[in-house]
Amino acid sequence: MSESSVAQERQRRRVERMARERRGIVLYRERGKEIEHVEGRIWVVPSCSGGGAYLVDLRAETCGCPDFEHREENCKHIYAAVLASAKSASCAGCGKKVRRRELREVGPENLTFFEDDALCSPCAVSHGVA
Ligand SMILES: [Zn+2]
Ligand SMILES: [Zn+2]
Repeated sequence: MSESSVAQERQRRRVERMARERRGIVLYRERGKEIEHVEGRIWVVPSCSGGGAYLVDLRAETCGCPDFEHREENCKHIYAAVLASAKSASCAGCGKKVRRRELREVGPENLTFFEDDALCSPCAVSHGVA
């Protein structure tokens, strides 16, 4: 392979990667509510085609979708999970990661948690945090 075709190949891969990253951003924007934290660094990301979902492991950087299995490069689901993870914080009750804006802050009157701890909505309900 000549030097210029190596450079071309590299450029082509960079463009492809950026396109997948953009699709990941769009996926996060449109379906972010359906992206769920499982445990550790594992997330469930909805499939764009049909009703299924894929397991993304951010530690291993793997996804169960055919695109990833085919190319073994970060797919849009991985990019969407990276975004979801960056915009989430852990619930002080169950430890699940939840989008920051869906967490409720604990007030000073609560005796189970520290003030300013944040809870996901099921935990907030079960601990009487309004
Ligand atoms: Zn994927
Ligand atoms: Zn919780």
